[in-house]
Amino acid sequence: MWILRIGLIAIIGIFIGWLCTKIISQFPKRQHIFHSTKCNNCDTPIKPFQQLPIIGYFLSQGKCSKCGAKLPSFVFVIPIITPLLLILLFVKFHFSLSFFQYSLLIIAGILIFFLDLYHRIIPDLITLSIILVALIFSFFNDLGFWATLRGGAFCAGIFLLIAIIFRLITKREGLGGGDIKLICMIGFSLGFKLTFLTIFLSSVIGMIIYAFSKFRRTMLIPFGSFIVIAMFVSIMTGNR
Ligand SMILES: [Zn+2]
Repeated sequence: MWILRIGLIAIIGIFIGWLCTKIISQFPKRQHIFHSTKCNNCDTPIKPFQQLPIIGYFLSQGKCSKCGAKLPSFVFVIPIITPLLLILLFVKFHFSLSFFQYSLLIIAGILIFFLDLYHRIIPDLITLSIILVALIFSFFNDLGFWATLRGGAFCAGIFLLIAIIFRLITKREGLGGGDIKLICMIGFSLGFKLTFLTIFLSSVIGMIIYAFSKFRRTMLIPFGSFIVIAMFVSIMTGNR
């Protein structure tokens, strides 16, 4: 049974991952996700068999068949990491309420990670929907409604403060409004304790990457992507 369940999660995860790649490709163009995917370079529609998750990437050798431009690597990566992360959640939480809530959170996290990394957007539609989901789940889960509300409000306050201080010191916009809503989303979903751990871990990850990378020059750090990684580590290592 264990193997069967993991197999089922893997198949659903690959499908969800594939949907995520469609959303990430189409989002900046404001197109419907079932609108045909086109090459970013020559605008040739990508053939249906090349859009199959994982296999399609190999069949097209990661390139556009007409102009040879490279397809973005997330097309290949997301249908692999989505089922893996969902399986890890299943191993820790089994088919509990937490599993379903965290699965939604992780799927939102994957979308945010790549949208922030590639397009520097953290859509309100995603963060606000997950806040709503967290509030609904709070009536049934171990965190409870008031702790959920406190977690969200408290964490948002702290992050807003950090953003204002950062701005006063550096005179630059370091954290966007999207990042603050993202932290709210995590605060509402994980409660104060795990969100605090997430903020701490994302600052560490951010500082390490900032110290060694090319982001240094532009100062446009995809901080949302670091927050998502830290969120997953917090979920897997801590209790709320
Ligand atoms: Zn092309």
